[in-house]
Amino acid sequence: MGILDGKKGVIFGVANERSIAWAVAQALHKEGMELAFTYAGAALESRVRPLAESLGVKIIVPCDVTDYGQIQAVFETLQKEWGGLDGLVHSLAFAKKEELKGEYYNTTREGFRLALDVSAFSLVALTKAALPLMESRGGAIVTMSYYGAEKVISNYNVMGVAKAALETSVQYLAADLGPKGVRINTISAGPVKTLAAMGISGFKGILDMVETKSPLRRNVTQEDIAKTALYLLSDLSSGVTGESVHVDAGYNIMGI
Ligand code: NAD
Repeated sequence: MGILDGKKGVIFGVANERSIAWAVAQALHKEGMELAFTYAGAALESRVRPLAESLGVKIIVPCDVTDYGQIQAVFETLQKEWGGLDGLVHSLAFAKKEELKGEYYNTTREGFRLALDVSAFSLVALTKAALPLMESRGGAIVTMSYYGAEKVISNYNVMGVAKAALETSVQYLAADLGPKGVRINTISAGPVKTLAAMGISGFKGILDMVETKSPLRRNVTQEDIAKTALYLLSDLSSGVTGESVHVDAGYNIMGI
């Protein structure tokens, strides 16, 4: 018996076995949720498909979140196959590597547009498309942010601004979705060595800092984050919406 038995959820953001979304998917699967996976472009399909299939996933569909047609197609498939949806995991972001180093004022207009579109607006677009499937049966959405939304982190630059937009979007969306019985929350995750993180200049220094300064004196793992995602996507968090939960070994509470 799992706490998500009979529930159905869709995962956005698995690139490989290091992805936070992969750890979340495994945690949800373990508690009985039936999953659908998406992948961002044909190049990733060969990595994502075997992972999804190892959890018995039948629905594995492409979704580049900058393409409305692909977003529509995902939810049409879910409507046809499942007729409803209980959980949505938004664990994706993108900025060009050259935007993730040096001074923030060097951000290009195109780099800004792309980072905000993929990393923040996508949550709005996915929520709108998912809502008709979710509102008849409750449901919960979770997204991934980072402390760089709240404080300046060297080199995080435009991604910090995108994460601030993401976290504020969660609050506005929570106000919209609450009356329809749907919840949405953010996890502000500590640094984890993944494909996306390796694009940030000086990332190793951030990991070292957390290990030295955080109350728990360690970095978090994908599994730490996944356990909180499980809580936020299950009935355990039935009274929680519009919230940002830090899963960062306590790093954010520290002053001098
Ligand atoms: P990851 O590289 O494994 O995942 C990033 C995902 O974004 C990939 O699956 C990629 O395919 C997807 N993506 C990029 N552009 C896309 C597009 N146009 N359409 C659809 N998907 C697209 O890295 P991760 O660390 O697991 O990142 C997941 C989330 O966690 C991101 O939002 C990231 O900012 C956030 N996060 C990561 C850390 C960290 O240190 N790794 C810390 C806090 C928050």
